[in-house]
Amino acid sequence: MKRIGIVGGGISGLAAAFALQKQRAQGAALEYVLFESTSRWGGVLVTDHVDGCLIEAGPDSFLTEKPWAIDLCREIGLGDQLIGSNDPDRKTYILVKGRLVVIPDGLMFMVPTKILPAILSPLFSTSTKLCMAQEWFHPPRKADHDESVAQMVERHYGAEMVDRLADPLLSGVYGGEASQLSVRAVLPRFAEMEAKHGSLGRAMLAAHRKMTQTAKGPAKPLFTSLKDGMQTMVDAVVSRLPSSLLRPGTIVQGLQRLDDGWVVSAGYSSDRFDAVILAVPAQVAAQLVHVSSAELASELAAIQYTSSITVNLGYDQKVRSSLPPGFGFLVPRSEGKRMLAATFVHNKFPHRAPQDRALLRCFIGGAGNDQVLQLADDVILRGVREELRQIIGLTAEPLFTRIYRWQGAMAQYGVGHLERLQRIEKQVAQLPGLALAGNGYRGIGVPDCVRSGSDAAHRVVTAMGLVEANFPRALEQQLLP
Ligand SMILES: Cc1cc2nc3c(=O)[nH]c(=O)nc-3n(C[C@H](O)[C@H](O)[C@H](O)COP(=O)(O)OP(=O)(O)OC[C@H]3O[C@@H](n4cnc5c(N)ncnc54)[C@H](O)[C@@H]3O)c2cc1C
Repeated sequence: MKRIGIVGGGISGLAAAFALQKQRAQGAALEYVLFESTSRWGGVLVTDHVDGCLIEAGPDSFLTEKPWAIDLCREIGLGDQLIGSNDPDRKTYILVKGRLVVIPDGLMFMVPTKILPAILSPLFSTSTKLCMAQEWFHPPRKADHDESVAQMVERHYGAEMVDRLADPLLSGVYGGEASQLSVRAVLPRFAEMEAKHGSLGRAMLAAHRKMTQTAKGPAKPLFTSLKDGMQTMVDAVVSRLPSSLLRPGTIVQGLQRLDDGWVVSAGYSSDRFDAVILAVPAQVAAQLVHVSSAELASELAAIQYTSSITVNLGYDQKVRSSLPPGFGFLVPRSEGKRMLAATFVHNKFPHRAPQDRALLRCFIGGAGNDQVLQLADDVILRGVREELRQIIGLTAEPLFTRIYRWQGAMAQYGVGHLERLQRIEKQVAQLPGLALAGNGYRGIGVPDCVRSGSDAAHRVVTAMGLVEANFPRALEQQLLP
């Protein structure tokens, strides 16, 4: 019987455990133990219910385009719980000089694909509009080295595009800064498009046309979530794992390499395994592997993380009808606010708030703002309410508030991240039985994390010779490049 230890019970570790559980169900001679330092499963996936509203403390959804989370939900019996974002009502605003300006139609991520709406939009100055027109004739360019998202966007559209769109959009996803994040790791398609087509606008338009021509059935929603919240995904996975293999409330403090396996130490107890999957933030993985490989530890420790806070505020019907239509707004750094973004949750998804309630979710923190985590709740709340007053004129007293702090939860893929991953993978290959999973490596979103967990499980069972032709086909297909 082969034994596998999984450290970290966030969605990455749970996906790894679920993949191994499927192997066991098919008769593979393996056992696993899933260690989680806190008393609850799911890591940053947390759903609360307050006053008839459904509050997501961490992620509220995932990109529909990436199939791995949806596939997992279907496998665990949640297929009929999947819900799409209310895309017909999708409208997002950017705060420009204190006023909300709607993102014009045809803007795909930050690339304009429709000329007229972009030209007419007050979001951009005349010089940015000129850059957009010139961008159409940008020659193909194959970069020989990585660069930041800001550098690439500025080359194509100018600095204003970085400030007003690239940076706020990336702060929403990564809590990071466009000037620090690697274009190859964060927006690989941009790098490919530039190499092949030159103009990002022309390339994006061509890709969109091709997609709409080949797409079957009605358009898919941009975001997918679960009717009763993201936590249902966690609960459903956990319910499929034997409780005898789960170790909640167990902080793994040590990892020691043996000639033929690994010893995982937690408190006063040690457990021997043939393989170990580290599904923890890269910084924690760095501490655990330090004894086995200082070189690997230093590469892992170099992957930076940022912190964030979500502030949720519930209001009555009067506020709901007074809010601007749409999904919410983004705040560029140049506006000098603490808030990075706010979502009008009641508009974004169904089943989130009763008709007589409005639910707002505001984000603060992000790169270089870790100190906000130290602020007291009343200070955070006062600041957020003051900024809501300034931005949307909201002065009403909230019916309820909930604040969630996420310390070091968002990995930052800095310039050179992919090269670092290559070095990490080389070093991991020298430590048989070790696999890494989680948001520090090849995707920060929930679907990527699900894939990273399943992928790590696949790698260890394959290396141990346990995987045969009967390894679940769907999973095999997901893992193929
Ligand atoms: C506020 C916020 C909003 C987000 N929004 C979205 C979104 O809308 N859509 C989307 O796709 N993604 C979103 N993300 C990103 C996504 O949710 C995360 O990247 C993903 O859930 C990370 O999962 P994970 O399992 O890799 O890590 P985590 O969830 O961080 O789990 C790691 C687990 O390891 C445990 N652990 C740590 N150290 C030890 C130890 N020594 N021993 C044992 N256990 C340990 C931790 O307690 C934790 O449970 C968001 C993230 C945050 C923070």
